[in-house]
Amino acid sequence: MDNKQLWDSVLAEVELTVSRANFSTWFKNTRIIKHENGIVYVGLPNEFVKEWLYSKYDKFILKTLRNISEGVRGVEYVIVTPTMKEKSQDSSPSRTGQPYVQELPLSDLYINKEDNLNPRYTFDTLVIGSFNELAYAATQAVVKHPGQTYNPLFIHGGVGLGKTHIAQAVGNKLKEEKSGKKIYYITSEKFSMDYINSVQNNRVHDFKEKYRKYDVFIMDDIQFLSGKEKTQEELFHLFNILYENNKQIIFSSDRHPNHIHGLEDRLKSRFGAGMIVDITTPEYESRMAIIRRKIQSSNFSLNDDSVKFIAESLECSIRELEGIINSIICQARLKNRELQQTEIKLLIKNNIIPKKTASIKDVIKVVSEFYHIDESAIYEKTRRKEIVKPRQIAMYLLREDFTVSYPTIGEKFGGRDHTTVIHSCDKIKSSIKDDDVLVEELSQIRALL
Ligand code: ADP
Ligand code: MG
Repeated sequence: MDNKQLWDSVLAEVELTVSRANFSTWFKNTRIIKHENGIVYVGLPNEFVKEWLYSKYDKFILKTLRNISEGVRGVEYVIVTPTMKEKSQDSSPSRTGQPYVQELPLSDLYINKEDNLNPRYTFDTLVIGSFNELAYAATQAVVKHPGQTYNPLFIHGGVGLGKTHIAQAVGNKLKEEKSGKKIYYITSEKFSMDYINSVQNNRVHDFKEKYRKYDVFIMDDIQFLSGKEKTQEELFHLFNILYENNKQIIFSSDRHPNHIHGLEDRLKSRFGAGMIVDITTPEYESRMAIIRRKIQSSNFSLNDDSVKFIAESLECSIRELEGIINSIICQARLKNRELQQTEIKLLIKNNIIPKKTASIKDVIKVVSEFYHIDESAIYEKTRRKEIVKPRQIAMYLLREDFTVSYPTIGEKFGGRDHTTVIHSCDKIKSSIKDDDVLVEELSQIRALL
């Protein structure tokens, strides 16, 4: 199989799982440039796409590549300029000749190797509204008196709501204002990998030394420490040392520390010892402000009615808003003219993922029928295996596909505690990773909903 065939097969898989808007925004103009020593080098049009694919689709791309071609060990993303593309032998004509993505003024990304900070994430580009004003206020206090007021600062909130942005903005601000300070940003997954590598290479001492020297330590997405006992232990010691020396620590997570399953109690209590703030989904006014800001920063213009229409139509995360705005800008650039309002409306309409409307009862009914169990058994306290699994699946679907809150799910399922619901959802989430039967069952149930 040549590179083009391999990548086309990957794209075919991707197309099945992402929305049309996402597919055309992120996967057009991509291709395999070379495949060497088990590493597949994927060529992309700009840093923005690179960052997006890396953060959102990296695992999926690797898994799909491996399914198709066994020898694949890893993926590297490389930015290819159009000229390089033209020179390249295996460039695919169908994916070239669309330089509009390059025109987006978003390719100014550069991640600093010393501190892992992305200069794009600043307070200047952060829109503040009631959804994040508490988190913002807390970060301002941290910037004024790092290590003294709120330590640690713990920011939690759903995917794409700006946790990484605001946490890194603190880092960037302190970097600018307090030049002597050693700042470091890392995701919990990378931290864990770094620790494991240090153990394998007999360099645990170096690992410890490295992290202890920071004045400002930002760890993102700590929900991924769940169940990683050794990394947690290492973090616990690191935390104590940094904390005792009044070094500022910032954590982010997709949920409150008390709700992170598989996290040691002593870490939970450390995390909760400073300030805990959350970021919620932006409300209408904030969505308007975000859309305006994104349009402006792309040197694009859009009339007020269209901005309002987008804000009204999309009750979603900031990342999703960005996705739609990018599609609109791409379309306009592709057509090389301003889009008419009807075109914008149509584009939004076509890209809106229809909100599912099945009720909680419907979901429970469909799941019970699917597993041939009595619907009423789901509500009962029984721990029979044949009931527990469907119950967990119903909870998982309500949370994932219908964004019902954990407490509401608990209440509907016979007054269960929300932590039980979180545990059930996590159980399914982790089972999906290696249980193909479950994955298939889920897709069949989803088709029935
Ligand atoms: P999270 O880490 O919570 O998943 P990110 O910080 O990655 O979310 O934010 C997703 C995208 O939305 C990023 O491109 C970020 O720059 C942008 N963004 C987030 N919050 C804001 C905000 N308040 N104003 C403007 N852009 C934002
Ligand atoms: Mg993030």
